[in-house]
Amino acid sequence: MKYTVNEQGYYGDFGGAYIPEMLYPNVEELRQQYQNIITDESFKAEFKSLLKDYVGRPSPLYHAKRLSEKYGANIFLKREDLNHTGSHKINNAIGQILLAQRLGKKRIIAETGAGQHGVATATVCALMGIECVVYMGEIDMERQAPNVARMKMLGAKVVPATSGSKTLKDATNEAMRDWINNPVDTHYIIGSVVGPYPYPEMVAKFQSIISLEAKKQLLEHTGNELPQYVLACVGGGSNAMGMFYHFLEDEDVKLIAIEAAGKGVNSGHSAATSVLGKEGILHGSRTILMQTEDGQVVEPYSISAGLDYPGIGPQHAHLHKIKRAEYVNITDEEALQAGLLLSKLEGIIPAIESAHAFAQLEKMKFEKTDNVVICLSGRGDKDLSTYIKHFGF
Ligand SMILES: *Cc1c(COP(=O)(O)O)cnc(C)c1O
Repeated sequence: MKYTVNEQGYYGDFGGAYIPEMLYPNVEELRQQYQNIITDESFKAEFKSLLKDYVGRPSPLYHAKRLSEKYGANIFLKREDLNHTGSHKINNAIGQILLAQRLGKKRIIAETGAGQHGVATATVCALMGIECVVYMGEIDMERQAPNVARMKMLGAKVVPATSGSKTLKDATNEAMRDWINNPVDTHYIIGSVVGPYPYPEMVAKFQSIISLEAKKQLLEHTGNELPQYVLACVGGGSNAMGMFYHFLEDEDVKLIAIEAAGKGVNSGHSAATSVLGKEGILHGSRTILMQTEDGQVVEPYSISAGLDYPGIGPQHAHLHKIKRAEYVNITDEEALQAGLLLSKLEGIIPAIESAHAFAQLEKMKFEKTDNVVICLSGRGDKDLSTYIKHFGF
């Protein structure tokens, strides 16, 4: 299994758990227990039932005919945008809240940048009646006021992080500090395939439902469960990891991960980690991250808040290094145009994150018989003001 994690929590050179000693008991408890819990029949049954009746799974695999015509291939959209709360993030949040309950935790904490993961976490806490505290940079709270309101309406407490740059990195530090101070009763829900082992593995497993369903659905549509190409956008990498998961061992399937180039890879305003990053430690794991010569994390930039992250999960770092997946990047402008095109051709307004994946189609050459699956990770409602500002509707 050269693509999956080893006993020590590494994917090749990447992964592990680089954490302060004070956090060791919390992470160790999780490491020892999560496998048993998530493979237990009662857990699996409850996870499956909530994904079906609460989230609305399986999400459809939609054959986009007009898009297919334009690009000369059979293009299928995995519709994570149709999930409750509007993206794939809910899959992981449901998995982790069920895990927290079985660990006997009474309180949930999370960090959030744009507020998407905060909303997913507040949602599942409301669902289960569990106390929820979300740390968010003070500047992000101003920029993402509607999501702050959503979290509050769902009953969560939103705590501003006021140190440093007052953004995601500082919110993460605050959440870590909280967890150190409340090790017994609190579970920390991380929102992507990042963080110390076992988080990247655990989140990938919860999101792997995406490719599990897609294989079956593709078989029904085309008579073959394997496509030629699978595409997904990458912030931390959770929708991409979920979309790739069950195709990893099928070496003929080309996996393409799309990062945010922002204003251009060399503009100084970018989040294209695989091009700009170097190996180092970020959020508790060894991975690739954007950093200065002396190891300071570089502030990333993308028009899409969900892709505005200075690293990628350790499994992605591994897939990149051994070239199992190809990592490419798309600018703000290209993504916005692709979002407009999908809206006009298919009547689907995508999240700007997801639009990055669609922009990649412009750069590819297909055979007429090629089957292509794209993860449509989220819906565009949250991005309407950005689209309006850009196109002047
Ligand atoms: C958060 C988010 C992403 C990026 O996160 P990943 O962990 O890389 O999937 C992508 N799309 C949408 C719609 C998001 O909300």
